[in-house]
Amino acid sequence: MVHLMFLAGGSAAAFLGFKLFEDVSENERKLSSRRRVPTAKTLSKPNEAKTSIPAGARFYEAWKPFPDEPTRQHFNIIDDETMGQGLIALVPFQPGDTVFKFTGKILSEQTLYTLQEAPGRYVEDPMVMGKILHSCDPNMECDMTTRTFRARKPISPNDYLTMDYESTEDELFRSFQCRCGAPDCRGLIRGKKFRNTNLTA
Ligand SMILES: [Zn+2]
Repeated sequence: MVHLMFLAGGSAAAFLGFKLFEDVSENERKLSSRRRVPTAKTLSKPNEAKTSIPAGARFYEAWKPFPDEPTRQHFNIIDDETMGQGLIALVPFQPGDTVFKFTGKILSEQTLYTLQEAPGRYVEDPMVMGKILHSCDPNMECDMTTRTFRARKPISPNDYLTMDYESTEDELFRSFQCRCGAPDCRGLIRGKKFRNTNLTA
């Protein structure tokens, strides 16, 4: 699986990653020069609060901190023999809650870790978003315009976070036979363009 990603991403991704690191360290220098003793007032500002994420808790270490970014305080990646890698919640969410916002590299081609933002435009995040498993009756919905996952069902600690890949992808990077167990499981998951064809046939 990983080999395919590298074929698709290649050296351009490595270069981008390097460039991002430079930008972040520059940003951190600016932040530290402006660092102040926190007061009740500064702590109440959302952006100030984000800078208080403990070291090591950020998944997106190469990116600037941003509101509603996923952290290890709220999520964990687990590796299950049958399910494979997936993202679980460590805290509960209610329907309508923002679960997290994601970021990534913009690519013109799909990889195993991309979601489609527009035809020919994909966001790649192998860290967090790319670990979300598919379900035909998922517990989250994805808004690609704001890169936001919202809960569509109650989510409990240790639940796998799931989305419907056919809600974003015209055609999947790799189609698969779904075994999500939902009563209305659609079986072969290929992409929404095939789904639309089926609906009008
Ligand atoms: Zn299914």
